[in-house]
Amino acid sequence: MSVENLINHPEWLLVVLAPIFFLCILLEYFLGIRKNKLPENAQYKLPEVLCNFSLAGLHQVTDLLAGLLIAQLYLNVFGFRLFDIEMTAWTFILLLVAQDFCYYWFHRASHRIRWMWAAHVVHHSSENMNFTTAFRQSLMYPVAGMWVFWLPLVIIGFDPKWVVFTVLLSLGYQFFVHTQMVGKLGWLEWIMNTPSHHRVHHGVNPQYIDKNYAGVFIIWDKMFGTFEPEQETVRYGITKPVNSFNPITVSFVEWRDMIVDASQKNLSMIQRLKVLMKPPK
Ligand SMILES: [Zn+2]
Ligand SMILES: [Zn+2]
Repeated sequence: MSVENLINHPEWLLVVLAPIFFLCILLEYFLGIRKNKLPENAQYKLPEVLCNFSLAGLHQVTDLLAGLLIAQLYLNVFGFRLFDIEMTAWTFILLLVAQDFCYYWFHRASHRIRWMWAAHVVHHSSENMNFTTAFRQSLMYPVAGMWVFWLPLVIIGFDPKWVVFTVLLSLGYQFFVHTQMVGKLGWLEWIMNTPSHHRVHHGVNPQYIDKNYAGVFIIWDKMFGTFEPEQETVRYGITKPVNSFNPITVSFVEWRDMIVDASQKNLSMIQRLKVLMKPPK
């Protein structure tokens, strides 16, 4: 598939990258199970791997369906753009950086606003960390409002298909940071989100909670005070374990808990709204 085709149909990008993802998975599986070279919580356990793949499938289907609506919305908003931005090598680099900035705030909001955490928690509820953890995604992201965070780029004047392409390129990159096979990467640790930085992000060690929101570049965490280097061995998971490998339970458990909390008797509308907007416990 040519690059031009990919820009016009960015939804194919992750499919094009799939063979590389599966090679990485095979290598990690081999090193972990066959050679016993990885820690216990990096090894592939069938119920969880099946759950992770099912979550990826559910996410892909709903993302494609919601994507049709969101693409239409982006096109409508693009009609009111502030500038006409021609895509050159320089504006593409600018878009990559601007997209990553938007991703940082999307990700930070996903941890600090319970309505958004209800979707994002799916990605964090595993107590293991390997490449298949990257596939744990929520089918509820369109409801949580992920698409809002890239609207500013469309309003500024970046073509929506390029915006979606860079969002998916960033998600493709982020597959590679979900592993315990790779240690620290020297000078790259200063600029890029790396496996080491992202292991911290998945940690429940108190100093690691709500740290390293980076997508591609770690610079935003350093600028906005959310950076934490990997020092202590990471314990993976969340403070409220989900204890299930059923993809439907995993996808909806926090939505259910949140709705139960917001529907308690004797709460005012403002208090109910606060339940949805405050940080999760
Ligand atoms: Zn996160
Ligand atoms: Zn992750």
